[in-house]
Amino acid sequence: MSFSELGLAPELLRAVEAAGYHTPSPIQAKAIPACLEGRDVLAAAQTGTGKTAGFTLPILQRLSRQPVTGRRAVRALILTPTRELAAQVHESVEKYGAALSPRLESDVVYGGVKINPQINRLREGVDILVACPGRLLDLVSQKAVRLDQVETLVLDEADRMLDMGFIHDIRKILKLVPQQRQTLLFSATFSSEIRQLADKLLDQPVSIDV
Ligand code: AMP
Repeated sequence: MSFSELGLAPELLRAVEAAGYHTPSPIQAKAIPACLEGRDVLAAAQTGTGKTAGFTLPILQRLSRQPVTGRRAVRALILTPTRELAAQVHESVEKYGAALSPRLESDVVYGGVKINPQINRLREGVDILVACPGRLLDLVSQKAVRLDQVETLVLDEADRMLDMGFIHDIRKILKLVPQQRQTLLFSATFSSEIRQLADKLLDQPVSIDV
């Protein structure tokens, strides 16, 4: 199996090559085609499995095929439990998307740092937003960002988000994104709470357990 067989665009294949990846990891081999088709995905995935490229590459591809007309709006929202993970995911988005033309704008927001610079950056318009739930809601309430154009929602390390008590924030965020959307849920473990969340959020998902 090669990355080119997964249906990725040439610019993204070059990014994967530049990153030094030769073969898709098992989760990438399953997640990338499903995400490209627009399917919902439920994936059991630990850190280190290559899950980040598994969702960022297809998101970049789908968005770059529908260029923006008018103002940029958040079309892909990636939620993570911690700022470290948010920063890492954002770095991957930037790295893999660097050669896309026209460019996609991405940003990352999390708490524990000043909110004003984040507000100013968001006002310039972003296509892909990586966020921790609490700070995202603060930014929404300050009208710095809207989520009504979100086409793809990712919950990364969903089990950790629940463990950290983010379920209420997640419920609020779910009310702000369109019902009609693609949802990708990644979790290392599957408690009954995660299963309930998955049942509520996902529509006929492709299940991946590698
Ligand atoms: P992740 O599980 O997404 O945090 O990725 C773990 C690490 O694996 C990261 O350092 C990636 O750069 C690397 N990686 C992701 N996909 C591949 C691949 N197909 N081949 C080799 N390394 C990869």
